[in-house]
Amino acid sequence: MASIFTKIIKGEIPCYKVAESADFFAFLDINPNAKGHTLVVPKKEVNKIFDLEEAAYLGLMTFARKVAIALEKAVPCDRIGISVIGLEVPHVHVHLIPLHSMNDIDFKHKVSLTSEEFSTLANSISEAFDTSEV
Ligand code: AMP
Repeated sequence: MASIFTKIIKGEIPCYKVAESADFFAFLDINPNAKGHTLVVPKKEVNKIFDLEEAAYLGLMTFARKVAIALEKAVPCDRIGISVIGLEVPHVHVHLIPLHSMNDIDFKHKVSLTSEEFSTLANSISEAFDTSEV
């Protein structure tokens, strides 16, 4: 069965999309640790990150870097944290989290946002995203 992230990529489940390339997709985490918490995923459904082909792994990291640069422009913070963690969804996902304190990366600290706030955030990150070379 397709993962929830494959359904999001295909548009079968709604999301707050941030950026997309031929092979990768970024969208806001629906249960964010911090404002701007973004997930970056390969379109090809693979369970575990180190099972990706080397080119796909490097491509994912390059794309995640571009998203992180846009994220830091849109959501001022001390830095963008990165984590590959969790067992919930069997589809590779990189968490990019704007950090103001170490609590923001511990996955216990959650913030709640309205759908309008999610939309505004996704638009700001998207506008800051450099679409050249993707
Ligand atoms: P984990 O597998 O524990 O790294 O976490 C999966 C992440 O996916 C969690 O942070 C969830 O909040 C997030 N998530 C699950 N379903 C959705 C969805 N439909 N839209 C956006 N984020 C989601």
